[in-house]
Amino acid sequence: MTNIVSTRLLVLGSGPAGYTAAIYAARAGLSPIVVQGIQPGGQLTTTTDVENYPGFRDVIQGPWLMEEMQAQAEHVGTKVIWDHVAEVDLTRRPFVLKGDSGSEYHADALVIATGAQAKWLGLPSEEHMKGKGASACATCDGFFYRGKKVAVIGGGNTAVEEALYLTNHSHDVTLIHRRDSLRAEKILQDRLFAHPNIKIIWDSEVAEFISGGSPEALTGLDLRNVKTGEISRVDVEGAFVAIGHKPATELFEGKLKLDSDGYIAVETGTTRTSIPGVFACGDVMDKIYRQAVTAAGTGCMAALDAERFLAAEEFDALQAAE
Ligand SMILES: Cc1cc2nc3c(=O)[nH]c(=O)nc-3n(C[C@H](O)[C@H](O)[C@H](O)COP(=O)(O)OP(=O)(O)OC[C@H]3O[C@@H](n4cnc5c(N)ncnc54)[C@H](O)[C@@H]3O)c2cc1C
Repeated sequence: MTNIVSTRLLVLGSGPAGYTAAIYAARAGLSPIVVQGIQPGGQLTTTTDVENYPGFRDVIQGPWLMEEMQAQAEHVGTKVIWDHVAEVDLTRRPFVLKGDSGSEYHADALVIATGAQAKWLGLPSEEHMKGKGASACATCDGFFYRGKKVAVIGGGNTAVEEALYLTNHSHDVTLIHRRDSLRAEKILQDRLFAHPNIKIIWDSEVAEFISGGSPEALTGLDLRNVKTGEISRVDVEGAFVAIGHKPATELFEGKLKLDSDGYIAVETGTTRTSIPGVFACGDVMDKIYRQAVTAAGTGCMAALDAERFLAAEEFDALQAAE
């Protein structure tokens, strides 16, 4: 027999957006349920040092921060369930979500906080060097490379923005792109080309992340020229892969309005999606900032939007009954 779990508010995802939505919803008396997904705690559990989440003078650890958020959410009345949702039906209320566990979740309102994953190059040496010199977020990790030589890999807006951002910390930034022109907007390209501390290596892809020392750290990148096949080395201590992100929205394709990049579309200034009662927060609806604190901020907004939606509905039902 199917295990049916009914709730006023279901939060899908357990990153900073999901747990913040849960904290606010629990404190509003909605007794929310968080379905954690296959990455309990979200992306921050894959990193070590976090130095830009407000409230902590010293560097904190990503996994620790997420354990604290979960504990806070549970402390104020959230139920946290480890499951992965594989199917959703948003055509009727309550919304129905089916988990891999066999449970079925019935929710009067839904907050989607399924995040987005950075795309990586897929090299074993890159995987090995994640957190030891290979990063996918200059805003998050650039500060740790103050005064060091760094590289950015990519040719779109994100890559150019990351390269420009890194000049705040490094006097020697190399942009590596596999083509002979950039896809980034012209205004960004103009700023990039004009910057004295940025150089560009064209027609090249990363063949290998090179490391050494103890503790092991990145020392360089081997590059393959895509036209000649020639291998050359660039010495860097930080390499930022900026080839895009993939929002976790497969579940919602054809069911909710997504933007041209696959992110959940929300009404400007709110977390309301194209379906009343469904709200989206965090990286799954934000392709610009993608930070833990902005995810938490929109998580708060989603809970408040959901609470107001449910309260208005309740009020209408009461009036109709009188
Ligand atoms: C290596 C790294 C370092 C970073 N460092 C920093 C930093 O120093 N400072 C900073 O501010 N930001 C940092 N970030 C960015 C930050 O982690 C993200 O912006 C933030 O985690 C986004 O939060 P989120 O809640 O929107 O989504 P996520 O953290 O991505 O969480 C998504 C959640 O959704 C769940 N989920 C997905 N699909 C399903 C499903 N079908 N069913 C159920 N659950 C599902 C997942 O299990 C996960 O729990 C870093 C990111 C990375 C990758």
